Amino acid sequence: MRSQSDALVVLIIFSISILFVNCSGTDPLSVKDGVVDLRNYDFEQHINLDGEWRFVWNGDLPKETSQAGNYTNIGVPDAWNGYEYAGVELSGKGSGSYSLTILLPERAAKYALEFPTVGTAYNLFINDQLVGGIGIYSTDMTLASPSYEPRVFDLGQQAKQINLRIDVSNYHHRLGGLWESITFGKVAKIQAHRENRVARELFMFGAIIVMGIYHLGIYSLRTRGHAALFFGLFCLIVGMRTLTTGEVFLHQLWPSLPWQILVKIEYLSFYSGIAIFILFIRVQFPDEIGKRATQIIAGIAGLFVLLVLFTKVIVFSTSLVYFQPFSLLAIGYVIYGLTLAFLRGEEGSGLVLLGFMAIVVTFLNDILYVNNFIQTGHLISFGLLIFILSQAFLISIRFTKAYATIDTQRIKLEQTNNAFHSEIEIRKAAEQEVLQHKDHLEDLVKDRTEELQVANERLKELSRVDGLTGIANRRRMDEELDREWKRMLREKRPLSVILSDIDHFKLYNDTYGHQQGDGCLIQVANAIKDSVNRPGDLTARYGGEEFCIVLPETGIEGASRIAERVRQNVRNLNLEHKSSKMASVVTLSLGVATLIPTSDSNPTILLKAADRALYQAKGNGRDRVERNLDE
Ligand code: GH3
Ligand code: MG
Ligand code: MG
Repeated sequence: MRSQSDALVVLIIFSISILFVNCSGTDPLSVKDGVVDLRNYDFEQHINLDGEWRFVWNGDLPKETSQAGNYTNIGVPDAWNGYEYAGVELSGKGSGSYSLTILLPERAAKYALEFPTVGTAYNLFINDQLVGGIGIYSTDMTLASPSYEPRVFDLGQQAKQINLRIDVSNYHHRLGGLWESITFGKVAKIQAHRENRVARELFMFGAIIVMGIYHLGIYSLRTRGHAALFFGLFCLIVGMRTLTTGEVFLHQLWPSLPWQILVKIEYLSFYSGIAIFILFIRVQFPDEIGKRATQIIAGIAGLFVLLVLFTKVIVFSTSLVYFQPFSLLAIGYVIYGLTLAFLRGEEGSGLVLLGFMAIVVTFLNDILYVNNFIQTGHLISFGLLIFILSQAFLISIRFTKAYATIDTQRIKLEQTNNAFHSEIEIRKAAEQEVLQHKDHLEDLVKDRTEELQVANERLKELSRVDGLTGIANRRRMDEELDREWKRMLREKRPLSVILSDIDHFKLYNDTYGHQQGDGCLIQVANAIKDSVNRPGDLTARYGGEEFCIVLPETGIEGASRIAERVRQNVRNLNLEHKSSKMASVVTLSLGVATLIPTSDSNPTILLKAADRALYQAKGNGRDRVERNLDE
């Protein structure tokens, strides 16, 4: 991915390089001693009038006779600062005349001159005729007025020779003179050259500004991380700079803008551009570009910015001399940091380094070009464009990666979502089923509970009924006795019990068998039960062949009578008992006991008393009733 994209960027940079570098002309001929010989030049290309022009300082001689007398040679393009004239080293301030003789072919043709910015005002004379000027040229500093305004002068039909004179004055900038190349050629070529420059610069401006707005837009939507902010600002600054250099479009867009402001903008764009640039690089490579170094570089650039903001051009234009080496140091530091990042394999460092090298190379190119070592032309804005394009490309790669991540995440989310949906459906169905089951279960539980209750009732019933005889069992009897005991205790009424036992029943079993014994027990039980008729009375099987009758509110006499009736009724059953020792039928012995319950006695005492009476009945010969008279 990385090597591929790097290769693509290199390709783009090369194509743009070819596009632009070809546009700047090369100049085989140069000006010597104030003369340029173009008699044999084919004029297929425009030509830069670079070389040694003749120069007269401050109108020492009459300007009409520029060819004669006291002159010196001066380099163009160059500021006149530092040149020696009549034994004096020139400062920036003052005025001077540049003159040049152009030797032309015999045949007349239409020629033109293209002027870049001149520092800081000038008048142009062709063959001693004033053709035009920019700003207000004057030898009097109070009258002079500076302006930057590149212009093409149409010279009309010319042949054989042109005498060119440019009167330049400067009182507002550190540098004075013809500091940029003046271009000469046939009208059509010059116009084409200018249109080319215009197109190129507007292209740069448009591309860079759009990039800046785009990234500021991104920053405003997504403020996390300051890379987009710094990059957007950097683009706007570089874009502004393209308006103040070269064709100085800012002047065309806004002719009334004071020259002072225009130059301020130009300087500000350079100084603040360095500050924003180091911040931008630091944000991207915080491990390689140190915080302290960033603060120092941005801080120093900031001081320069303040100087530009609060002083006039004549003051702050001197600062460039100090800022240039400083910016070279800063650039060196950035190269060091980026190389480190590249060696460490930091993401995107290759592209940034490549883009930055474009700036460095074009920057060095410009220094060499300005010093007349090479003839390539100004390329720094082009280098900046390459850098900005590589950055934009890097940012697009990051966005693409981010989008790809978002896409896979989205697909994953969708899948999860779908899975959830079907899961929810399944669960809903299950829930429905469970609800149905629940209803069913509730009904079932209700039914079963009712059934259970019935069964329980039945069991309870059964648990208190004797299985063989169908009368109450011992447990039931104990409960009833307890309850009646308490009731009688409250009411202070007598409670009686009768305990009865079949006589010689063991023998009965032995004689008739156990099964018939059981049948006998059932008949005896029924006979006893039928002998008792009050609803409160209870007949129970006490155990084996013993029966008990509980008689509430019954005294000893009443109980004895009932016992006697029971004895009679059993006897009257006439159940044969041939092995009995005292009768031929089944007989009963009964013991009766009565108590008025007190809190210090209990039902067991009553039962024991009845048992003693029964024992007496057995002892006294059986088939009789005995009452317990202890109490
Ligand atoms: P007694 O006159 O002294 O009472 O003599 P008995 O033989 O009746 O003596 P006892 O009361 O001690 O004997 C109880 C006998 O009753 C023992 C057993 O054979 C018989 N028996 C007890 N429960 C049952 C029963 O449920 N079915 C049958 N067939 N016989 C029983
Ligand atoms: Mg017995
Ligand atoms: Mg018995």
